[in-house]
Amino acid sequence: MIVSPAQVGSVYVHAPFCARRCVYCDFAVTVRRTGDVDAWLEAIAAELAFVVREGLFTLPSSLDTLYVGGGTPSLLGASAMTGLVELLEAEGVGVPAGVEWTAEANPESLDAVVSAAWSRAGVNRLSLGLQTFHEPSLRWMGRLHGPDGPLRALDAARASGIEDVSVDLIFGLPARLGRSWEDDLERVVALDVPHVSLYGLTVEPRTALGRAVRDGREPAVDEDRYAREFLRASEVLTTAGYEHYEVSSFARPGFRARHNAVYWSGAPYLGLGNGAHGYAPPVRRWNERDWETYRSRLAAGHSPEAERETVDDEARRLERIWLGLRTSDGIPAPAPGSSAELLVRRWADDGLARVEAERVRLTPAGWLTLDTLAVELDARDGAFDLRS
Ligand code: SF4
Repeated sequence: MIVSPAQVGSVYVHAPFCARRCVYCDFAVTVRRTGDVDAWLEAIAAELAFVVREGLFTLPSSLDTLYVGGGTPSLLGASAMTGLVELLEAEGVGVPAGVEWTAEANPESLDAVVSAAWSRAGVNRLSLGLQTFHEPSLRWMGRLHGPDGPLRALDAARASGIEDVSVDLIFGLPARLGRSWEDDLERVVALDVPHVSLYGLTVEPRTALGRAVRDGREPAVDEDRYAREFLRASEVLTTAGYEHYEVSSFARPGFRARHNAVYWSGAPYLGLGNGAHGYAPPVRRWNERDWETYRSRLAAGHSPEAERETVDDEARRLERIWLGLRTSDGIPAPAPGSSAELLVRRWADDGLARVEAERVRLTPAGWLTLDTLAVELDARDGAFDLRS
């Protein structure tokens, strides 16, 4: 199949290092006390040159959004983001003011020096791994910061001029830890940050938590508690002035995450780094997950790509329904009189969706069963036209 190059405006760059692996983490992470910034920059530069030569993506002279995630990007230290700008510019890709540039950070490695250097390089949005203020839960998760860590990191970010901060908050932790969800929500609201991301605890088989659940040392996730905490967060945060604009995302007006919106819209994006995914419709590609494998393939002059797939129309339709329903913008309402319309009316009667302004939007209760609803709708006639 001949595929024309996808013009991308959004780039994700993966930072692979973490100082310790959290009990639930299944990400492409390499455990190191400090990040190897030189090796990281060298590998990303080599991959970018590869991308340019290969021609699957056309890079812009100026990006719309740049997202550095991980792993723990803050473990790469103060110079990392300047180095990243330099290697992008070397390939003709500019990161001027106005680009939404997000970098993830963990509280223990984001100090005033790192924050100021990142701000000077152009980072204007931080995603901070707060998770909880409850000390025993932080210890249980294997986090390296204490309850005051996020406050110090937030002060450092604000002092360096980065006001647009998102905090990550985890819910659905085991009841025996004694974590108060109400206390955490109250303290997060008091931080007065413009964005909050919620993550439910999931048990992945290849993690320490997965093994503990399998061996009966930890209970499985309590689904009722999970649902209760999710719905309560939606209530508390929307009452405090946040818009619940995507299943996991809350923003003050004007602070929706632009980079993530690219994923939800089905637009192309480029991913660099180990385990990173890229999308040049209809091709999705992803890199070797293991940092050393990724890096050594590049060092030997080979592509770090692990696999690629062609997303056919059938798969793309389900994906567009699922991605659209994730957001409060929803998807176009089904054709009148179709079996999809009947289904959506039933969802509305059950409090799972609203149909307004010719769009279907899930409620927070609907978001709890998003996967099932998307598959159900996809199976109906008149559900969604890929051209819409
Ligand atoms: S800090 Fe994030 S990426 Fe690193 S181990 Fe913990 S959950 Fe995984």
